[in-house]
Amino acid sequence: MKNTILLFVLVSMISSCNENTKQTEKLITREANSLAIVIHGGAGGVTRENHSQEQQEAYTKKLQEALDAGYTVLENGGVSLDAIQAAINIMEDSPLFNAGKGAVYNSEGNQEMDAAIMDGSNLNCGAVAGVNHIKNPILAARFVMDSTNHVLLTGKGAEILMANYGLEMVDSTYFFTEKRFNQLKKIQGKELLKLEHSTAYLENNHLIDDHKFGTVGAVAIDKNGNIAAGTSTGGMTNKKYGRIGDSPIIGSGTYANNLTCGISATGTGEYFMKTVAAHEVSNLIQYKGLNPQEALHEVLFNQIGKLGGEGGMILLDKGGNVYWDFNSSGMFRGYKKSNGDNVVEMFEME
Ligand code: ASP
Repeated sequence: MKNTILLFVLVSMISSCNENTKQTEKLITREANSLAIVIHGGAGGVTRENHSQEQQEAYTKKLQEALDAGYTVLENGGVSLDAIQAAINIMEDSPLFNAGKGAVYNSEGNQEMDAAIMDGSNLNCGAVAGVNHIKNPILAARFVMDSTNHVLLTGKGAEILMANYGLEMVDSTYFFTEKRFNQLKKIQGKELLKLEHSTAYLENNHLIDDHKFGTVGAVAIDKNGNIAAGTSTGGMTNKKYGRIGDSPIIGSGTYANNLTCGISATGTGEYFMKTVAAHEVSNLIQYKGLNPQEALHEVLFNQIGKLGGEGGMILLDKGGNVYWDFNSSGMFRGYKKSNGDNVVEMFEME
């Protein structure tokens, strides 16, 4: 009798294991050579009420430009790392987003930028944090990955290395935008930590309504089926001098693994760090057999949301399927695929 029960338990374990495998396998089927890129420009209080028609058009146009730049790289046979870099560069150069030009200000009235990039084919990755003279921080992250033995470089050390390497360096005034500076002034003295891309200020962990947005990110899959992910940010308005968020922390705000997916996050970084959000999503797919949409929901709503955090994530799986989710009112986002799909959205999930 004992043996029969044991056999039954074993058979059920094996068959449920097979089902999980089947479920993930079904999701990862990819049409030969299919290409895809997905991007975000920050999540938060992105609602119709607080964005004029003109602003909506400006964001749509810039997101499309970034998508096109990234997709063109893929279409020309380029690798996913170059594709996401091209897309992120465009958003970093635009004052519309909280990355590169247009980055938010810290409590000292300075801008400190963070960025990360990851290659899903070999888990190579690179990141920089607290830099404010490198015109395109995502290029610096790429350099750390490609040309050093390290993963994360910060501040002066990172800048000296990048200058020697020949990356474009700028005076910190290049990053100035009046809009961001006024945002800082507005909240300074109130001891509030602004969730830039977000609907809220954080005060003693309580959210206070506002309507802002920010960070940029991209994930792409190339003709070889290699996934790459990258994120670039100015962080959060009125952050403490030296504060580093989730974006440059591999596994928190940025992650790519050909076995599962690539992810870029935006939101209240501390919560994405506490939950190691991007890696958690990947693990839920890999080890729990969750489909990507379920995995995103679990982390954003049941983990980050429950702790009081807010934001969103974009995800591209090894099948070239695009997913996204957010627990804030909106997220600037879009994707372009070789099957002809081309989507740009910003408000509630459609
Ligand atoms: N996640 C970023 C940070 O906390 C902010 C953002 O997504 O806008 O630095």
